[in-house]
Amino acid sequence: MDLSYIINQLGEDRELYFNAIAPPIVQSSNFAFNTVAEMRALLQDEYKGFLYSRGNNPTVDILRQKLAALDGAEDALVFGSGAAAIFVGVLSQVRQGDHVVCVQDPYSWARYLFESLLPRFGVTTTFVDGTRTENFENALQSNTRLIYLESPNSLTFDLQDIEAVSKLAKHKGIVTILDNSYCTPLYQQPHAMGIDLCLQSATKFIGGHSDTVAGVLTGSRDMLRKIFVSEFLSVGSVIAPFAAWLLLRGLRTLEVRLKRCQDSAQEICQWLKEQPQVEKVFYPLDPEFPQYQLAKKQMKGAAGLLTIQLKATEAAQVERFCNALQHFLMAVSWGGHESLIFPASASLPEGGFSADQPKHRMVRIYIGLEDPGFLKADLAQALAKI
Ligand SMILES: *Cc1c(COP(=O)(O)O)cnc(C)c1O
Repeated sequence: MDLSYIINQLGEDRELYFNAIAPPIVQSSNFAFNTVAEMRALLQDEYKGFLYSRGNNPTVDILRQKLAALDGAEDALVFGSGAAAIFVGVLSQVRQGDHVVCVQDPYSWARYLFESLLPRFGVTTTFVDGTRTENFENALQSNTRLIYLESPNSLTFDLQDIEAVSKLAKHKGIVTILDNSYCTPLYQQPHAMGIDLCLQSATKFIGGHSDTVAGVLTGSRDMLRKIFVSEFLSVGSVIAPFAAWLLLRGLRTLEVRLKRCQDSAQEICQWLKEQPQVEKVFYPLDPEFPQYQLAKKQMKGAAGLLTIQLKATEAAQVERFCNALQHFLMAVSWGGHESLIFPASASLPEGGFSADQPKHRMVRIYIGLEDPGFLKADLAQALAKI
């Protein structure tokens, strides 16, 4: 399906709402029926229509159709956060006594789920370095039910060979879930590479304006219908109609925003590599990136997220750089209009910095929609303060 068609037309039946260009926000918790028979039909199968907005809602439904089509999937479920999409996606696939193999540095709340919550219910997890496919194979146990991937991750951008891992999983009857937040469906198509369930934090690029928290899970109709009538309705972490409308608005410009972020990030990546205070730059589509060949093979692009490793012997140098930036805001998250920095050392306790740990000297940079020259000038004056 054409990207332009998906973004501008799919799911939108304007004759139903006065030929309005922008879809209505159907701010209703529930929906009325004319006959008992109609009501009974939906109570028996809520997946089919509009009964109550914890299940389906017309504004959210337009978004679902677009997000599913973008991923090349049969259906999508939209959540109140990316973390809820992770929770429901994983919970739907494991039972007591099951084992999971997960990449070693997944998103922090995915890690918490595997490390702290699931063991309470008898589900164990092995974390592996996902840059080598054989590590997945070696970690498999007779009770492995799920392989959880995140490619690339959002600090050092380690990739997994998605095709190879999903082939291995299919061969053993193991379900695969992949967090595609970094690439979005525009820059990576995990289902086409054999992944069963694909998720993203829509808070990042889909929303794109730092004003909405949401998540997406896509897959086959069969899998999603089962999840809908069970974990999805039970957890109840739905997106509100207004937030769904904001995501629809975000989608209209997704392609041009990603391209702008990518072009600026590539320019700034090249420039950063020439700066004497910068030891290393991590960016998956930089030819010097260790997994560049794989990135080129399975990703169509890489938008605005990169990481620098500073030459620093003490925490104060990293902090001087970060504190001196005038136009980059210091914040978590990414994917909005505004450029951001996130110093990895902010996660350390006071005094926990050690210059021998490269990670402590890493600063993640999100390149937003501003002029790249304006951003470079800001980086230059802050680097000079190290
Ligand atoms: C932000 C993020 C999430 C969680 O999404 P929320 O919308 O914040 O709940 C999951 N995975 C990745 C890679 C993220 O960056």
